[in-house]
Amino acid sequence: MAEQLDERMKPFLQRLEKLKASDHYFYLQSIAGPTEPRVKVNGRGDMIMLASYSYLGLASHPKIRAAAIEAMERYGVGAGGVRLLAGTTELHRELEERIAEFKNTEAATLFSSGYVTNMSTISSLFGRGDVIIMDKLDHASIIDGCLLSGAQFRTYRHNDMEHLESILKKSQNFNTRLIVADAVFSMDGDIADLPGIVELAKKYDALVMIDEAHSLGVLGASGRGIDEHFGLEDAVDIKMGTLSKAIPSIGGYIAGERRIIDYLQHNARAFIFSASLPPASVAVALTALEIIQEEPWRLVNLRRNTDLFREGLRKLGFDTMQSTTPIIPVLIGKEWKSLELTRLLFEEGVFVCPILYPAVPKNTDRLRTHVMATHSETDLKEALDAFRRAGEALGLIRTHSLDP
Ligand SMILES: *Cc1c(COP(=O)(O)O)cnc(C)c1O
Repeated sequence: MAEQLDERMKPFLQRLEKLKASDHYFYLQSIAGPTEPRVKVNGRGDMIMLASYSYLGLASHPKIRAAAIEAMERYGVGAGGVRLLAGTTELHRELEERIAEFKNTEAATLFSSGYVTNMSTISSLFGRGDVIIMDKLDHASIIDGCLLSGAQFRTYRHNDMEHLESILKKSQNFNTRLIVADAVFSMDGDIADLPGIVELAKKYDALVMIDEAHSLGVLGASGRGIDEHFGLEDAVDIKMGTLSKAIPSIGGYIAGERRIIDYLQHNARAFIFSASLPPASVAVALTALEIIQEEPWRLVNLRRNTDLFREGLRKLGFDTMQSTTPIIPVLIGKEWKSLELTRLLFEEGVFVCPILYPAVPKNTDRLRTHVMATHSETDLKEALDAFRRAGEALGLIRTHSLDP
């Protein structure tokens, strides 16, 4: 038995050793201090952070920190139970109301992470006899929710509405049809065709669920997300989001009609059988939602920085795919070159992470950069210079004559 397990793990562990031996292992690096535009990584200071999901740069915001400390003093450090029983504080209820308001729905419910939000919501609302139709690039937590649900599931080509329609046409025999997509695709940085999805959902009587992990606080005139971006505030049935990215906390939510929320709070297994978020984390999310509205300059900066960095990379000759958001992939194709580029950039003082097969399709290995509202122009220009030097050294881009 143990031998079989060893056999299974062996090829993987050998690969890990190889990566470490060739100085190409970039995971689990420890960062000293909050996730800001400049960080200390593995003891090396002044690294430009291009790998953080903290899009609005709120990780050490003084007002949010103060709210966390106050919540801890008032409510203690742990919630002391599961939400359904003794783990609901006033703060949890308040945050749910605030999220419902922010997402323009009747109600909302929290979960302890974005991952379990998807897994638990999909598996408790859908089951045998239903079909779940998802974008090929949807997040792992959506796939796991589908697997756990017992429903059939189908995948449509990325953002391809014709393909989605052909699947919907063939899905009329199921009890319920659910279309589920990421709002901003986490590996490519492009935006879901929500108008197309909504139109097809109406035509074929399907429900729509959208995962706003990378769009909450990022898309829309006031950062409310993809529905605000497209002016489709009432078109999404199940609005899912995380509190771990632009919102610098932990947790996930579902916002929607009250009957859906009531059902989830008494049926979703992660809500019933897993501990509630600590009060300080709830206070962080509450205050961050306020800051998003009080400090609109963050969103302005985020967009300016996104355009500056993406266009800078493109001018150098890098392929940033279809990205229009602060997730900006740098497509390389091959694993070794992706790892070499990461290593050279690290030497140049830029912290960025490689994304390799099987996390992305074969031969689309890439580096994934994330821009923050609080990056200065100098941060981004220095990072672009580093990309230029490293890219030239590896022959990924043509040599640029230096500016005088
Ligand atoms: C990060 C992410 C999640 C999971 O959220 P956590 O809060 O990190 O558990 C879910 N969906 C998408 C699209 C994500 O990018």
